[in-house]
Amino acid sequence: MASNKEDQLRMEVVKGAKTIYTKGLVEAGEGNVSLRNGKKEELFITPSFNQYDTLKKEEIVHLNFDGTPLSAGKLPSTEAKMHIAIYKSRSKAQAVIHTHSTFATMLSIVQKSIPIIMEEMYIFLGGPIDISEFGKAHTEEIGEVALNALGKKNAALLANHGVIVCGKSLDHAVKFAELVEKLAKIYWGALQIGEPKIVPEEHLERFQKLFETLFANYPRSMRRKNIKNP
Ligand SMILES: [Zn+2]
Repeated sequence: MASNKEDQLRMEVVKGAKTIYTKGLVEAGEGNVSLRNGKKEELFITPSFNQYDTLKKEEIVHLNFDGTPLSAGKLPSTEAKMHIAIYKSRSKAQAVIHTHSTFATMLSIVQKSIPIIMEEMYIFLGGPIDISEFGKAHTEEIGEVALNALGKKNAALLANHGVIVCGKSLDHAVKFAELVEKLAKIYWGALQIGEPKIVPEEHLERFQKLFETLFANYPRSMRRKNIKNP
């Protein structure tokens, strides 16, 4: 029987999923939201062909990191392997969100990274939003290409696919998914009217501690590497 704690995590996934749906970052049947089950090698993830408007906690799928379902009912999101790859590599990541939000996906199709165009990007995400190599959807390969593009950061664009973000909480991940779409829209707009200028590096150093303390969730093994060359 599900514990109260597990019930709470399911409700949290439902809330996060409905928030990104209400904000227009996903349409029915696309994107996915997951939460790690505390320190266990398990996660709660939205189901395959997720209908956000009617989503209930009973539909959230409880999975082991080896892919074994721990609950009966719906099939897990087809991108569960990508979520699991991120949790396995980042012990501090508690939540992962994947969207096909429009402006970010447009940039992913021209395979364009978003450079540091605003300071908040550095504070919340830890640097530019890099574009990944192309990875086949629904496979472990896409987990690997996502991790490579994430480096030490909290968000990346998946080539010809969309967005991946991870956070120390679901609230963080929701915030990052919204921020990526906002920045993609701003960058796209700026490209229409001129040449976007990048925030000078010397203005960013003072925010590094803020990012590291509040939002970073990259693995300890990366700590000594330079943030720009993870
Ligand atoms: Zn997708």
